[in-house]
Amino acid sequence: MTERILIPTDGSATAEVAVDKALELAELYDAEVLALYVVDTIAMDISLGTEQVERIRAGKFGEMEDLEDRARSATSRVAEKARERGLTAEEHFRGGRPHSVIADFAEDFDVDLIVMGSHGRSGVKRALLGSVTERVLRSTHRPVLVVDEREGEDDE
Ligand code: ATP
Ligand code: MN
Repeated sequence: MTERILIPTDGSATAEVAVDKALELAELYDAEVLALYVVDTIAMDISLGTEQVERIRAGKFGEMEDLEDRARSATSRVAEKARERGLTAEEHFRGGRPHSVIADFAEDFDVDLIVMGSHGRSGVKRALLGSVTERVLRSTHRPVLVVDEREGEDDE
């Protein structure tokens, strides 16, 4: 049974491609959708204190207004699209190393499927897979569906 589908998103157009695929599957299974944005402490080269991590978890970004905009627009796009299809969707925020946060989240919420993009915001096309996706594949035993960013483009 596929009851809960996790969609990690960094708000990039490439992550968006995975969202459409994920929602198509969610509709097919009548699954609940969990959208997750992780404040990426690796990419931003920051370290968050326990208190900040707790606040982000509660959706309180405080002075991190730019981040809040990015986070909310990323998850709300997923949630809105899901609701348009009549699906139940939740938005979640976390802070930390994205791949381990995503893998831990998948365990905590007992998700049946993780759907994510092959690439994300930094989009270094040389790499076959973005580092977050590659590390999630190595960190979880849950099924992961990776949607190639070129999905939907014309074949040439
Ligand atoms: P890299 O980060 O390795 O330079 P990239 O940005 O192109 O390359 P990834 O970061 O691995 O690639 O992104 C691949 C997918 O991982 C995204 O489509 C998204 O599904 C997920 N992802 C990446 N960063 C985050 C994040 N901060 N929060 C939630 N999901 C994320
Ligand atoms: Mn990235």
